[in-house]
Amino acid sequence: MEPVRVVRHVRDMHRVADRMRMDGLRIGLVPTMGYLHEGHASLMRQIGRVTDRTVVSVFVNPAQFGPGEDFETYPRDFERDLAMVHSEGGDLVYAPSTAEMYPDGYATYLEVERLADHLCGASRPGHFRGVATVVTKLLTAVKPHVAIFGQKDAQQTGVVRRIVADLNLDVEVMIAPTVREADGLAKSSRNRYMTPRHRRCATVLYSALQEGRDLVQEGERRASAVIDAMRRRVTLGPGVEVDYITAVDAEDFRPVEALGDSVLLAAAVRFGESRLIDNIVVETERRAVKEIR
Ligand code: AMP
Repeated sequence: MEPVRVVRHVRDMHRVADRMRMDGLRIGLVPTMGYLHEGHASLMRQIGRVTDRTVVSVFVNPAQFGPGEDFETYPRDFERDLAMVHSEGGDLVYAPSTAEMYPDGYATYLEVERLADHLCGASRPGHFRGVATVVTKLLTAVKPHVAIFGQKDAQQTGVVRRIVADLNLDVEVMIAPTVREADGLAKSSRNRYMTPRHRRCATVLYSALQEGRDLVQEGERRASAVIDAMRRRVTLGPGVEVDYITAVDAEDFRPVEALGDSVLLAAAVRFGESRLIDNIVVETERRAVKEIR
């Protein structure tokens, strides 16, 4: 296997991307903040099946962290990330510095209206402005034919799709299912800095969502009933704090009283220093149609 190439500067990235495109190669991009785990690896494998070259970007984006959030302490291990990209057959790591991405005088940010107002957008003001800006900059730097994102960050995937549609970006967006630990906890770089006690508590996140899914599938349509049932699952203890646990419209993330055909059950809960998010989409109408057929 060829060694993984590391590109640090946007100028070089443009040159390498142009070369690949001139050679007729399809480029796939996996945007990440590093500290790679099996969730990222599954994205690499899925995009590798539909493209000729896999580029993994590793950049902890300061613009998407609010004051007092974990930008400084976010886990980082570049050598380990390189080894993982290599073992998953990735070709190139794009790892720009903060100064490369946001040089002195930088002044351009992207706002996605409405979609970014709810869920994590409400509890992390400015978060999606940072996400939208960095994803757009990564897409223009790497010039991929396809970019892949995880369903774990459901609102992020909605925001990215919106940007690609609204700005007519010539890239296909793929969404990959959430990879979980054996006990159901969604894999996350932030799982690493939980205490063993919080790690044990954290399994309630997925079991609460499963409880909500079962209720919706049994026909419950009152959002408040589903939300109450999910909330009851989460026992608060020292350091455990609910940010939100909710059932919203899966298309635009708006809170609804009566659940429709496509429901996003979503939760964000803080366990000590780690704020974890997870979600399940329940497609009730489609499921019913499938059953009738
Ligand atoms: P991050 O490095 O956490 O910003 O994530 C980079 C990409 O990997 C995003 O598109 C995430 O949605 C995706 N991702 C993170 N964790 C998982 C997971 N457990 N399963 C699937 N995709 C994931």
